[in-house]
Amino acid sequence: MSQDVKCFIGLHKYEVLEKKDIKNPYGAIVGMTIISRCTNCGKIHEDTVYTDNNYRR
Ligand SMILES: [Zn+2]
Repeated sequence: MSQDVKCFIGLHKYEVLEKKDIKNPYGAIVGMTIISRCTNCGKIHEDTVYTDNNYRR
């Protein structure tokens, strides 16, 4: 199956583009946003991971 077909059905081949720290109002890092891009079609995907379980947006 070619990557074009995989992209068509949503199976993108993501590579990490950028990681951004998420801070709470006190300046402590509570998680990160991981921005990735498909190497084939260029679709951007954003994942938010919280490392502090007490903190939610
Ligand atoms: Zn893709």
